[in-house]
Amino acid sequence: MSLDRRRAALWQAMGLGPEWLRRAAVAAGEAGPKAAPALGPAPAEARAAAIGAMGWDELEAAVAACTACPLCQSRTRTVFGVGNPTAPWMIIGEAPGAEEDARGEPFVGQAGRLLDNMLTSIGRSRSSDAQQPVFIANVLKCRPPGNRNPQPDEVAACEPFLLRQIELVQPRLVLVLGRVAAQSVLHTDAPISALRGRVHRLAAAGREVPAIVSYHPAYLLRNLADKAKAWADLCLALDVDAGA
Ligand code: URA
Repeated sequence: MSLDRRRAALWQAMGLGPEWLRRAAVAAGEAGPKAAPALGPAPAEARAAAIGAMGWDELEAAVAACTACPLCQSRTRTVFGVGNPTAPWMIIGEAPGAEEDARGEPFVGQAGRLLDNMLTSIGRSRSSDAQQPVFIANVLKCRPPGNRNPQPDEVAACEPFLLRQIELVQPRLVLVLGRVAAQSVLHTDAPISALRGRVHRLAAAGREVPAIVSYHPAYLLRNLADKAKAWADLCLALDVDAGA
C-alpha cells in the first residue's frame, strides 16, 4: 500500500474522516461527504493499516481495548506478550489458556514452565533484562472458551497485532510453537511433521525473518518421547541464528 493510501486508511480507521477534498470543491465551498473521494479501503484493510502504524504502547492499548471478534466477551484479560520488546528471538504460541487469561501473561501454566526450562537450556529467558532475552506472544491475544482451537475469523482479526509486534520487535529469529500457531503464522495446512526441521521465512516490515517450527510445550507434556525432537528444533534455531 502506498504511503498516501496507508495514511488515508489510518485517518479513516481513527474516525477522522476523509483526509482530503478536491481543491476545486473546497474552493467552491462544497466540503462534506459529497466531495470525498470514494476510494476508502475496506474496513479490515483500514484497521490493519492503522495497527500497522502503531508504536508499542499504542499497540498494547489497542489490544487491551480490542472488540474485533467475539472472544472479547468471554476474556478476563487480553494477553499482549511478555519479555524484552527488542529481543533477538520471538516465540509465538497459540492462544492464552485459563491461567494466562487470569494473569494477562502468556505461558504461565504448566506448559509455560516447560517452555521456560527449554529456554533456560539454551541460555534464553523471558526476563526482559536477561542477557539473551526473548519476547513471547501468541497468535490470539484472547482466550478461546474452553481452550478450543482458534477459529479462522479470530486468527484473521488478531493477525495485524501479531504482525505489528514482529515488525516492532524486529527479531533475528522466530520460534513458532505447535501446529495451530505454525499453520496460522505460515498460512499453510501442512502438518507439523512437514513444518519442523526446516527454515521458513516470515515477511515483516520489508524484511524476511527466519522462522523455526517446533512442538507446543503442552503437547510435549503429553508426549515425552518427542522432547528429543524439540531439542533438535532448538539446536536448529541456534544454528540458524548463528548463521551456520
Ligand atoms: N499455550 C499457548 O499457546 N500460549 C499460552 O500463552 C499458553 C498456553
